[in-house]
This record gives sequence, structure tokens and C-alpha cells, in this order.
Amino acid sequence: MANTSGRVLGVNGNMVTVEFDNAISKNEVGYIQVGSDRLKGEVIRINGNTAALQVFEMTNGISVGDRVEFTDEMLSVALGPGLLQQIYDGLQNPLPQLAEQCGFFLQRGVYLDAIPNKNWDFTPTAGVGDTLYPGDTFGTVPEGLFTHQIMVPFTFANVPYKVLSIKEKGSYGVRDIVCVVEDQKGAKKELSMVFTWPVKKAIKLYEERLRPDETLVTKIRIIDTFLPVAKGGTYCTPGPFGAGKTVLQHMTSRNADVDIVIIAACGERAGEVVEVLKEFPELTDPKTGRSLMERTIIICNTSSMPVASREASVYTAVTIAEYYRQMGLNILLLADSTSRWAQAMREMSGRLEEIPGEEAFPAYLESRIAEFYERACKVRLKDGRIGSVTIGGTVSPAGGNFEEPVTQATLKVVGAFHGLSRERSDARKYPAIDPLSSWSKYEGVIKGSKVEYARRILFRGSEINQMMKVVGEEGTSVVDYVTYQKGELLDACYLQQNSFDPVDSSIPIERQRYLFDLLFKVLASEFAFDDKKQVRSFFNTIRQHFLDWNNVPFKGERFAQIEKEIETLYKGKQVAVDPDAEKLI
Ligand code: ADP
Ligand code: MG
Repeated sequence: MANTSGRVLGVNGNMVTVEFDNAISKNEVGYIQVGSDRLKGEVIRINGNTAALQVFEMTNGISVGDRVEFTDEMLSVALGPGLLQQIYDGLQNPLPQLAEQCGFFLQRGVYLDAIPNKNWDFTPTAGVGDTLYPGDTFGTVPEGLFTHQIMVPFTFANVPYKVLSIKEKGSYGVRDIVCVVEDQKGAKKELSMVFTWPVKKAIKLYEERLRPDETLVTKIRIIDTFLPVAKGGTYCTPGPFGAGKTVLQHMTSRNADVDIVIIAACGERAGEVVEVLKEFPELTDPKTGRSLMERTIIICNTSSMPVASREASVYTAVTIAEYYRQMGLNILLLADSTSRWAQAMREMSGRLEEIPGEEAFPAYLESRIAEFYERACKVRLKDGRIGSVTIGGTVSPAGGNFEEPVTQATLKVVGAFHGLSRERSDARKYPAIDPLSSWSKYEGVIKGSKVEYARRILFRGSEINQMMKVVGEEGTSVVDYVTYQKGELLDACYLQQNSFDPVDSSIPIERQRYLFDLLFKVLASEFAFDDKKQVRSFFNTIRQHFLDWNNVPFKGERFAQIEKEIETLYKGKQVAVDPDAEKLI
């Protein structure tokens, strides 16, 4: 059957109304023929025989009557070996190759193969006569650090397929036929190493969805200890402009204990993305000593690129993440910023003349955000392996006001909230996560009761600080002043972390525990001081020691030396240990 065609009825920004014959479905891809350009669009609404297409390109030059060809295919991504190290736009065009072909200014209507045409060393893992189901592995190829599983396309009907032939071990092109199967009715299917999957549909080929109960170590102390993230969980990082959302995500992407990181740079300034592109290939992966890029995929849709593909970029990223999850890998997807994605939704909703919700966002904003984060999960696959997709998104609310719809909708669905504060970033207290208002539902790496004790000191210290602003230091008791100083110590030496120091920028769990234990002994101490001057002087000295300690290699000579000095310092002033804390030590 010939695919449906149609004609342009009207253009409103990137929304094009099309009249069509035959039948089309929602999320189907159509191409608008404008002169020699073919512009890609996605059906987002159907009304009788007219459809609204969101077009992923500049729409200038489209006129009424222009021909539209529908493809009978949903907006999809190509999946197969060769995805790692790629830099794609939202429609999975490889950007470097696109730039090569088009020069400095990207040309519209040019779509390139997402999976590079190259050969891979294929090792069959299935034999003639074997029965396979969608998602089952029939071969592997080495892709950088990983064994990439070549699987029966997930889009196949969920019925058994018998292997009729399979290539022997050897080097084959990624699009060569490497396996032929037939279903029970005798229909043959030829399999290569590549297949496609519709981006808006979650891949659900697993045995069981598991509780995200394992901490995803980021090597960032404030996160791992106080506001942990879990493998297969979700978290969000809202913060005002310039508070450090992007820097924090990059820090996380370098250090997080996952196999693969997917960065969806969505709608942010092009300059930032260029920085990532320059920075990443040069960074070495602390885990492997090889280029960080080998386990990274970047999907990038900057503020200067068409708004509609922002939406696509978020879904493209999560679909690729789910694909690698099917291989039993742990993937971290970082989206920056989900507010830009929401703005794209708002723009389109306005063009569709839908009834607006709060702040003119569409009424379905909440459900779209929820559906996106829902795709994070830890799963047990059919063969028993465990895979996970963790999603972290930044939110950039205007003026840093967290009461707005995107932040609020996100907070309803995520498992952890890392709110960046303007006050902290202005004071250059990085990462500027506010330890008092942020929260996490996940389990961290340090005993919960000890963390709680430390958190109480932070709260109490902040209260005393507020009070001091009113009554002055003179009006504050020595005991309160000590608590305040303890909170400041914890903040300076534990919560803050220098992302530019070679040692301090990434702190493994063992060291976090070690530091926390010693710090905890100081927090739990009751001290005898005559006056506040003594308090100040003591805490200044011990703080400096802790800061020095943070910058020297773990358990080296200097490390041991500073540790001794800290012990001498605090024990010299200690008169007792808080009985509440003593039980925890
Ligand atoms: P946002 O994405 O929230 O707009 P950025 O992540 O781009 O903000 O950070 C803005 C600036 O703040 C950075 O260019 C950097 O100078 C500073 N900054 C942010 N985080 C840190 C950090 N962890 N350590 C040092 N400087 C930081
Ligand atoms: Mg940013």
C-alpha cells in the first residue's frame, strides 16, 4: 500500500497543518517537500482529515499546497553498535558529520545515518534451530569497553522465532544480514545489527522492575552522604541561572559509578555545549584511564536549534539509554534543562490553541514530565542480568522560583531533589545544593542515624545564624556559638567540594566514610571554651586542617600526619561526648 500523502493547509511557526487522504496515526513522521528540501515533522494531533505536524526544522518557505509524505513510521531512533561516542542532534543526526557535509551553518532537511556504516567483529551466540524472542541476543560485538549485544528487534511481535541461518564469527558491516529467522507461520525475517524503536514508547522487555535500592555513587559528598541518588532512580536539580547546574551535571557525568552516561543538552546556550564537546574527549575516565567519550553519548539541541527537536532530544536520549540497559548495563541520563523542553511544549500547545494550564503550560505538562521520569528504572532482564537507567534533570525556573509548574511537576515524581540556592552560589559555596531544603528518598553510603545527627547540627546552626543576624554575636551564648561553628565546619569541609581540585573533585565512598567519621567525632564533642573568641580560633584552625586534609591523596603520609593533628586538636578541647552521638560512633 502506498503511504499516505497530504497538502499543507497552513503554517504557524513550527506547526504545520496538513490535509491528508487515507489514514495516518499520531506520532507518525511526515516529510514536507519544500523545493528540494524535505523537512521532517511529527504528527501531534489529528482532526478528521487534517493533522497538525510539529516540524523539526525552520519552516520558512513552506507554502499552502506543498506536498507532504507520511512514512507510516513513528518518530524513531536507530539502535545498534556505534552509538557510543556519538554526538547527535535531537533527531539523532550525527553532528560532526552533519557539519562536515553542510559547513558551518547546518542545513535543514539533511538527515544522516545515525549508526555509522562500519564493520564489527561479530560472534554468534545462537545456533541454527534455536528459538529466539524479541530482545534475545543472537550475537555480540565488542564496542569499546563493552560487549554490545546484538538482539532480535524489540519491535517484532512477541512470538517465537526459529533461527534458519546465522553468520559465523567474523567481521561484518553493521547493516549486513547476519541472521535469518522465521516465525511459526513460516515468514522469514532478515536481521542485521541495527533496528529502530519509536522514541516515545518505553522499552519494556524485562522480567521485573526492581526497587532502586542501590546507591549510585557520584563521588560528590553532599550527594552521596546527604542527598543520595539510586541506580534506576530519578532526581532533579532546579536552580537559578548561573547557580552551577551545568557544572554539577558535568562533575556527575565524569564521576558517577555507571557504565554509560548520556547527556541530553536541551535548549541551553550553544557555548556551553561546545565546552562539553571540547572538554569530554580530553578527559580521562577515572575508571578506565581511557577517554571519557568512549562511554558517553551526547544529544545536543542548543537554544539556537529548532525548538521542536528539544522534545525529540529528550526522548531520543532516554530510548538509547533503555537500549543499553537491555544489555545489563547501568546508564545515567542527564538532561539539561528540562525547563527548555517544557517551554517547547508550551509553545506548541499555544499554536495548537489548547486550553492553557498554569503559566500557559499545557494541562498535560505534569503527565509528560511524569512519563519521562517513569522511564528510569532498575530491571531484572530475562537472563537474570540487572540493568538500570537513572535520570537526572536540571530545571531552570525564571528567577529561581521553585513554585513554578515545571519544578513542582518534577518534584512530584522524582526520588531526590537537589535544589541549588542563589545564596550559596553567590557565596561560592559549591556545589550550591541547599542542604536544608533538599531531600532524597534513597539510601546513602553512610549510616542514616549519623547523617541525621549531622543534619540536625546543620539545621540548628542555621537557626542560630539567623538569630545572630538579629541579636548579634554578643547576644548569643557560647554553647549556641559552638553549634553554629560546628554547622559551618560541616558545610565548609564536607558539603562544599572543589570541582577544580584534582583530589577533592571526586571522593570515593571509602574516603567519604573516613572523613565523615572524623568530622562526626568533632561534631559529637562537647568542648570547654571560655569565650567566643576561643571558639572562633579553635574552629578556624580545625577547619583549615580539614580543608588541607581534603586536598591530599588518601592515606598517604601527609594524610596520616594531618589526621593526627586534627585528633590532637579536638581531643585537647573535648570535655565529653554528646551521649546521643556516642551511641552512634
Ligand atoms: P547554570 O547551569 O546553573 O546556569 P553553570 O553550571 O553554568 O550554571 O555555572 C555558572 C558558573 O558558576 C560557572 O561558569 C562557574 O564559574 C561557577 N561554578 C558553578 N559550579 C561550580 C563549582 N562546583 N566550582 C566552581 N565554580 C563553579
Ligand atoms: Mg546551565
